[in-house]
Amino acid sequence: MTATSSLAEPFNLIAGEHRRAASGRTFESRNPARHDEVVGVFPESSAADVDAAVAAAQRALPGWRSTPWPRRGEIILAAATIMEQRKEELAQLMTREMGKVLTEARGDVQEAIDMGKFIAGEGRRAFGETVPSELRNKWAMTMRQPLGVVGCVTPWNFPIAIPSWKIFPAVMAGNTVVFKPAEDTPLCALRFVEILEEAGLPGGVINVVFGAEEAGDAVVRHPGTAAIFFTGSADTGRLIAATCGSMLKKVSLELGGKNGIVVLSDADLELAVEGALWGAFGTAGQRCTASSRLIVERSVLADFTDAFVARARALRLGDGLVDGVDVGPVINETQLRRIHGYTEIGIDEGAELLTGGTVAGEGELSRGFFYTPTVFAGVSPSMRIAQEEIFGPTVAILAVDSLDEALATANSTQFGLSLSLYTNDLRHAFRAIHELESGIVYVNAPTIGAEIQLPFGGTKNTGNGHREAGGHVLDEFSEWKSIYIDYSGRLQRAQIDTNAP
Ligand code: ADP
Repeated sequence: MTATSSLAEPFNLIAGEHRRAASGRTFESRNPARHDEVVGVFPESSAADVDAAVAAAQRALPGWRSTPWPRRGEIILAAATIMEQRKEELAQLMTREMGKVLTEARGDVQEAIDMGKFIAGEGRRAFGETVPSELRNKWAMTMRQPLGVVGCVTPWNFPIAIPSWKIFPAVMAGNTVVFKPAEDTPLCALRFVEILEEAGLPGGVINVVFGAEEAGDAVVRHPGTAAIFFTGSADTGRLIAATCGSMLKKVSLELGGKNGIVVLSDADLELAVEGALWGAFGTAGQRCTASSRLIVERSVLADFTDAFVARARALRLGDGLVDGVDVGPVINETQLRRIHGYTEIGIDEGAELLTGGTVAGEGELSRGFFYTPTVFAGVSPSMRIAQEEIFGPTVAILAVDSLDEALATANSTQFGLSLSLYTNDLRHAFRAIHELESGIVYVNAPTIGAEIQLPFGGTKNTGNGHREAGGHVLDEFSEWKSIYIDYSGRLQRAQIDTNAP
């Protein structure tokens, strides 16, 4: 498959075959840096297409779940190896389709490669437990079972990494998948699945239905999907949780963040400025872990702010494929307007706009959706720009007078994904590690930069308690079966015959 084939023939990938959507409708994926460039045309799927995808996944399930774990692991490892060989091509495609600068796109692909290699090892691990029985001549042990057909619904900001976090462990555990990728990055998703099939994944193990809310909703509601793995906005997450709750369907939600970096007066200020810059403006702020609040001790506030604003002003906006560009476009026009809406909200709330706050429409930039790196100072914790996820290159500076106030301010949002503290005092670092209310804590690093061998996820409204990646990831994608084997040849009653000779 090449990019042009998806331009010529919009298809879903169901049972290993190309299928047009039942509705016949299509949508375009366009380059956010050059909106006149169409990257691909895809089918606008609806419930009928999801029905076909679920049916294909159900047909593939018996064969796949009985495929030995080590063989499943080998296929995933082969996929990771192909991705490694094609890393540059995938990264360039990602920059064209999603907009993040090429170095970051390479990082996104690398994360999927890392995840593939990590999870492939489970093929020869996936340990269960063997424990003593309370009865003689009785064996007690556990083993993992797949959940069945699982639905994966993903966002556009990590177009390959996030699908890999869900799909690699899902298929490793013997599940089959219906995958509804984000409507802004369908070609990245298609390439990812094609690579898995090239690596030897049988047709039907992953079925891709393209489209938007209608398709996603159909995946969630389908009685044939046993579990839903979702990353996206808190609003959509709430809807999905309600549907899954009423159906008693397992659901893993990875939602928003409003992540803060605390900068104490004893911190290495230059390091903190550099970290905050990367955390706030990397991926144009379009990460659920983006550092959107900078909580700075007043004694270093002026120095920090001056240095930070100077560095923010110097960032170069542009097409992420061009050398020297620091910040790419935001994903689409709706998002561009939403980000600018928050600038107006910040000004109305009385925050001080120090730099940015404009749509960047000069010259080449007028072809895409660019927003200038935006810094607000004088922000109080209750302002909307300090509370709501903006998902753009907008950051709020909040002043505090003590470590206590800093930690309380960092915790004062509905979300709990990632928080960070810059300090050179070990005592402060350990207090923060214990008291910050988030799934991820960084010391002397910004709120972005998770590695796949540790659990990823958040507390409070960031999700519903699930974690992706990390050494326990299979717990999310499998169920335990407890097995008792009585070889005594007679009836032995647990809790009753336990003291019998
Ligand atoms: P984002 O702000 O990241 O686009 P969304 O929550 O809108 O977040 O979208 C994340 C994913 O969820 C996308 O694949 C989108 O198509 C899908 N989606 C949107 N609405 C629904 C819904 N009601 N049910 C299921 N999936 C949905």
